Amino acid sequence: MKKILFLFITAVLLVGCSNNVSGDVEKEEKPLVVTTTGQIADAVKEIAGDHVEIKSLMGPGVDPHMYKATQGDLQTLEKADIIFYNGLELEGKMSDIFEKMKKEKTVVAIGEAVPQDQILNDEAHPELSDPHIWFDINVWKIATKEITKTLSEELPDSKEEFAKKEEAYFIQLTDLSDWSDQRISEIPEKQRVLVTAHDAFNYFGNSHGMEVRGLQGLSTDAEYGLKDIQNIVDFLVENNIKAVFIESSVSDKAMKAVIEGAKEKGHTIQIGGELYSDAMGAEGTEEGTYIGMYEHNVNTIVDSLK
Ligand SMILES: [Zn+2]
Repeated sequence: MKKILFLFITAVLLVGCSNNVSGDVEKEEKPLVVTTTGQIADAVKEIAGDHVEIKSLMGPGVDPHMYKATQGDLQTLEKADIIFYNGLELEGKMSDIFEKMKKEKTVVAIGEAVPQDQILNDEAHPELSDPHIWFDINVWKIATKEITKTLSEELPDSKEEFAKKEEAYFIQLTDLSDWSDQRISEIPEKQRVLVTAHDAFNYFGNSHGMEVRGLQGLSTDAEYGLKDIQNIVDFLVENNIKAVFIESSVSDKAMKAVIEGAKEKGHTIQIGGELYSDAMGAEGTEEGTYIGMYEHNVNTIVDSLK
């Protein structure tokens, strides 16, 4: 009996050990980096290359302002070695989760690394920061630097490679910014007005000299009423604006109401096309990368307004 018990314990210990070993090997393979938005996942990919496995919780068409973590997301976050999120209240329904996880692992809000004087505020609510920092390429570089810094601390052996990758990527981003300015200059100055459903493009407008009007405020959970629609319609008619834009992650209902309202005043407005505001395009497509998404937006805006 004693011998059987001994064998049994040995067997349990062996199983236990072998489980541990395979668990460690899995972990040693590649650290898992989990991000909220696709924009952040793309930045991690540019800096880290193949050194990490990347999972983004929010896919194409997903609205981060309203997003609630699923049971599967919580499991993914539990497994993560590093978590990057935007912060500045973009992922408003997930803040508590990140605060809790900060006690257990490396959790970084990249937007919170941006100096306060480069953060835009909501005109109507000056106490609120505008979280849509990816639309100012220079501000996005600062946020991306926070990714490089974190990855270099966590994977010090690859530090130099990350720095080189960052340098090369930033050259592409500078080119993207110059190209965008060039294209936007094709729009007559008075027509450089971008009207969308929610206020995602203030950084974009600020950096490329466009006026921006959103119907709904900084977050998609803000209410809008007939008065807001009327104000936008008046603005469009007064300034003779040709097109408004819908967003891939926001319902087009509001913009359709704006077009109807303008029509009643005898002013024809087109839908200029669909912009990627808070979500990127499908993985594997041009618009599924930050640069491709940005180019798509600039081309769509310029081609409709020029
Ligand atoms: Zn937004």
